[in-house]
Amino acid sequence: MPAKIYYDGDADLNLIKDKTIAILGYGSQGHAHAQNLRDSGVKVVVAELPGTPNFQLAVSHGFQPIGTEEAVRQGDIITILIPDEIQPEVFRTQIRPNLSAGKLIICSHGFNYHYGQFEIPPGVAIALVAPKGPGHLLRSEFVRGAGVPCLIAVGENATEETFKMALAYAKAIGGTRAGVIETTFAEETETDLFGEQVVLCGGVSALVKAAFEVLVEAGYQPELAYFECMHELKLIVDLFYQGGLNYMRYSVSNTAEYGDYTRGSRIITEETKKEMWKILDEIRSGQFAREWILENKANAPAFKAMRRRERQHPIEEVGRRLRKMMSWIDAKEV
Ligand code: NDP
Ligand code: MG
Repeated sequence: MPAKIYYDGDADLNLIKDKTIAILGYGSQGHAHAQNLRDSGVKVVVAELPGTPNFQLAVSHGFQPIGTEEAVRQGDIITILIPDEIQPEVFRTQIRPNLSAGKLIICSHGFNYHYGQFEIPPGVAIALVAPKGPGHLLRSEFVRGAGVPCLIAVGENATEETFKMALAYAKAIGGTRAGVIETTFAEETETDLFGEQVVLCGGVSALVKAAFEVLVEAGYQPELAYFECMHELKLIVDLFYQGGLNYMRYSVSNTAEYGDYTRGSRIITEETKKEMWKILDEIRSGQFAREWILENKANAPAFKAMRRRERQHPIEEVGRRLRKMMSWIDAKEV
């Protein structure tokens, strides 16, 4: 079934024109939501941590950030845009005690709500408005008169009015200019985790590292292994982005295209697909979420150890040197 998509004409800004919207967190998403809403004529209050760079940024954009608890009390709509890992604690201690019936909570990612980290009080509704792009793009597209597609969903205590208000919110940040796709908290959360684990972060990193290791173990120079297995990935992904697999295959040489058809399925096999199903099962059952929430409660020791170890991988050392030779790259180091 094709997705249900809403555009400007389906949404009514008047539903939120006389409301106060509290934006919690002035980071990647927060700065874009706050400014787009304000430019759409909605009253916005911002909560940020005093003394931080993003507090200063909000001030430089003409906001006067206040504390989270006060912002929750002032807001008719409260958008939670602080980092996902700290949301459960902040929700329990600063947000929930200041909620009252009739308020609407909005989040831009369903993880915490879907996995039971937000205990929603009676009479309070929750909705998801999730832009499918980073905050700076949400802002720059809005300023240009365009928008970034968003996902929309409603959760507990939602009425028809809740959905319409969330849609008005999506319009005010520019989402309905591009299209707002209806989904559920479960679908948004589960597909997001699956994508980042299997393809975007986990799958791609593992593929690149393994291929680099094979070439280096076979005696090829790490510099060449880096170019072939990591650097050139961007050229291919840009082609995917513009025109899918067909356009990539149209653009590369026939030799590369033939290698793709005959060798690719030997790398991603039926066994790999079985493992993808296992990963999906862990996401759906909540096993992955429980593991990650517990890890964070213990101050993330395993996570930090893996991060330290991964940062030392030889591909990172050779990459750091090679990126210095390519002045157009805007090389970054962590
Ligand atoms: P960021 O880390 O960029 O921004 C979070 C901001 O919240 C930071 O400025 C942080 O300050 C501030 N903050 C931390 N604690 C508090 C607090 N107690 N009170 C007020 N402010 C606080 O997060 P993102 O914008 O990336 O993510 C926000 C949400 O949007 C998440 O749910 C994420 O999943 C979702 N999302 C993100 C997308 C993205 O591309 N980034 C895309 C779509 C959804 P400090 O920096 O000082 O810690
Ligand atoms: Mg995602």
